[in-house]
Amino acid sequence: MIAHVALPVPIFKVFTYRIPPPLEPFVQVRVRVRVPFANRSLIGFVVGIEEEKEECPFTPSDIREVADLEPLVDPISFDLCLWAARHYCVSPGLALKTSFLHGSDLERYLVVGAQGDDPLGVDGLRLKRAYTLVGKERVWEHYHQGLFRVRDVFTGESLKQKGPSVSVQRFSAKLFVSQAESRREYYLSMAAPLLESGSNVLILLPDRGLAGGYFHRFFEEKLGERVLYFGSHMPAKRKGEVYFRTRNQGGYLVIGTRSCLFLPTHNTRLIIVERPEDDGYRNDQALQFDGVALATKLAELRGVPILYGSVSPPLDVMKGVEEGIVESIGGEPVTTKPVEVAAVKRFRIGQSPPQELMDILAEGLSRDERIVIHTPLKDYAARLYCLSCHQSILCPVCESAVSFRKDDNRLVCWKCGRQFPYHERCTHCGSELISFGSTGAEYMEEHIRSAMADASVLKITGETVRSKKDIGQLMGLVGEPRTIIVGTRVLSKLYEVGPIGRLILVGWEDFMRIAGYRAREYIRQTYCNLIDALRPAKVYLLTTGKAREPEEVLTMNDEDFYSQELERRKTAEFPPYVRLFLLKIDSSNRPAALSAATRLRGLLEAYGIGDNIVGETVRPGEKGHLAILLKGRESLLDGLLPELTRVRHLRIEADPPWV
Ligand SMILES: [Zn+2]
Ligand SMILES: [Zn+2]
Repeated sequence: MIAHVALPVPIFKVFTYRIPPPLEPFVQVRVRVRVPFANRSLIGFVVGIEEEKEECPFTPSDIREVADLEPLVDPISFDLCLWAARHYCVSPGLALKTSFLHGSDLERYLVVGAQGDDPLGVDGLRLKRAYTLVGKERVWEHYHQGLFRVRDVFTGESLKQKGPSVSVQRFSAKLFVSQAESRREYYLSMAAPLLESGSNVLILLPDRGLAGGYFHRFFEEKLGERVLYFGSHMPAKRKGEVYFRTRNQGGYLVIGTRSCLFLPTHNTRLIIVERPEDDGYRNDQALQFDGVALATKLAELRGVPILYGSVSPPLDVMKGVEEGIVESIGGEPVTTKPVEVAAVKRFRIGQSPPQELMDILAEGLSRDERIVIHTPLKDYAARLYCLSCHQSILCPVCESAVSFRKDDNRLVCWKCGRQFPYHERCTHCGSELISFGSTGAEYMEEHIRSAMADASVLKITGETVRSKKDIGQLMGLVGEPRTIIVGTRVLSKLYEVGPIGRLILVGWEDFMRIAGYRAREYIRQTYCNLIDALRPAKVYLLTTGKAREPEEVLTMNDEDFYSQELERRKTAEFPPYVRLFLLKIDSSNRPAALSAATRLRGLLEAYGIGDNIVGETVRPGEKGHLAILLKGRESLLDGLLPELTRVRHLRIEADPPWV
């Protein structure tokens, strides 16, 4: 017999190994096996088993060891992962390895239970202890002869997976557009009867502490012990417990972030995705994926309904509504306020903030209001420009733009995230004449604090609310009247802060540059979520420069916005009507990058998709960073992936959010 094994290597293919006869009883699809690979020994997942063919052109190596007594990945999660690998152009072995981290050491929670006689004397022992005492092989032989069973310590249920329970439902998709408070009530009303009947419900949240915390606390209050939270940060034992409970039991509301998608929730009868437009669903680790797309696929594979709850749904969901695939079921949408718009001068370093802003703040403070200022960028300045040689200051490693953080006098790279001390000199010509542009929350906090001495000024960005403790401290402060909160998009997740007096939007034209083709959608979603969370009595938009989009998008109604934006994307052939694939070459020198690019273009031409190239970048400088953007249908790269993944220095990013 031979087995096809998905190995955690970047090449998009599965590898063939011979199953030595003594191991044959132990090898099943979905178990992990140890195999030799290029002078190394790797663990991979068995994806298929078949008879050895006579005419096999090469002699496969032997599988060395079987790692799992039974498959620990359930069939549907397995299929989901293989689908994700293809969809996101990642090798199946890497996708499987990164998705099932929770399953890496589940064996230590397993206990032996003898059936009748106990010739080995291992009854009641931990499986691992039994291995040590009588040897793994003898334990496995006895197990596969049915002489004892193995159960987990949390549920006491047999490790042998029962067949998947037959679903009486089928896939359907619904969209509930409503304010946060009514969303959680609605989720509860949908989930409660299912939990009552012994089924599980899966709720995906965009983050852990902020929006996630708001929903998590509510469900815990209402459902107590029946809430099972799962997060990749949890201790191993707790993860093991949630794994076995969702695998073997029912009646749980399983909630957590995107890492929940690979839990063996075979009793699931409903999948809910809260705030599907949130960037928190994007996984940037080895398997880059969009958690919302995966949740939808999971619902399809399990044959259960999916419910999206949002105040400003993503365009692909709205496309589904337009095409009749997603049913929109109403709710209480936020009422977008009339926005007061004022044109102001651009915020410049060294100058005080515009008078219009000061007037709006002073008026609010005179009424003892709480005021929130939202700005897209978090650092002091997002652009550094040399006035002598007229070049932007770039990251010395990846040659992308950097932003300046005054707090610790550091430069932070936009692309690779690396930080460097700021030496107040141009990296190209050494000049000290550096100009700062695109000011952010840090700059604004500093200036407003010095101008508004009698107010308490707080800054809230993703970095200031990392831990539960940070969040707790902030919540204590934001309740005071005459507080001015300056911050970024994270403000739209502070559901317990509102209602506030006034919301001031500053620098929103920067969204046009940051968010690319998604800018209008991004502006709309940020705005609606800010209104939903903060419930301001008044909204001000301070515009600078020529960009009219923020004002236009903010003053539209939902229906007009979505129909126009979908039309726009359709005409311009952008997602969700096509898919984008960003092929990035990152090598340490220019010649290597250029030769990889030549090879890449040759492959694309030979495969007949040369015409799908819609953009190409060659960054300035000595280093080898190149990117090619492709546009096309869902399966554009399918047949080419084994070849593509062999091109050196190449990384494929499917559906890149920013291009
Ligand atoms: Zn310079
Ligand atoms: Zn960098």
